[in-house]
Amino acid sequence: MSTQAPRLRFATVWLAGCSGCHMSFLDLDEWLFELAAHVDVVFSPVASDVKEFPEGVDVCLVEGAVANADNLALALQLRQRTRLVVSFGDCAVSGNVPALRNLWSGVDGGSRQSVLDRGYLELADTGAQHPHAPGIVPELLERVRPLHEVIPVDLYLPGCPPSAERIRAAIEPLLRGETPAMEGTAMLKFG
Ligand code: SF4
Repeated sequence: MSTQAPRLRFATVWLAGCSGCHMSFLDLDEWLFELAAHVDVVFSPVASDVKEFPEGVDVCLVEGAVANADNLALALQLRQRTRLVVSFGDCAVSGNVPALRNLWSGVDGGSRQSVLDRGYLELADTGAQHPHAPGIVPELLERVRPLHEVIPVDLYLPGCPPSAERIRAAIEPLLRGETPAMEGTAMLKFG
């Protein structure tokens, strides 16, 4: 890795996912120190408490599908403010686990109410009720969607989660201003 390359403004975002992709990112272990020497982490759930997605981001890894209004608003905002958006993990790339609720669409005219009823009423041990405080549950979208259905994506990094080795192999060329070769099962296999 060249030490002459300018520092990149680097971000990671957690939409509708289990955080497993971020855990795999943390599995980069000591290489994270090398990464930190070449980037400024300007937004990430694992590295800062910044609430507003900043302007002028160079690279953003986006974990998770787009399942609710908050996910959608953040996806649209980060796209406007990021040069290179990476669809990070199978949930972002395909919808994966969060999109299973799409299978319920049509049962009652839509999956949203079914999911809320299942989670807050049918599976409740005690005190079954929908949350009442405004904003405590973001409005669910009618269908869970992969990231590329709501914003243009520059790079797909599949895996559930992508291994730390695959994440590093994708990021390292970006630090040099190059495009990673996303080909072969080592880089593209789902699951
Ligand atoms: S791709 Fe897998 S590990 Fe990543 S957020 Fe989705 S379910 Fe979790």
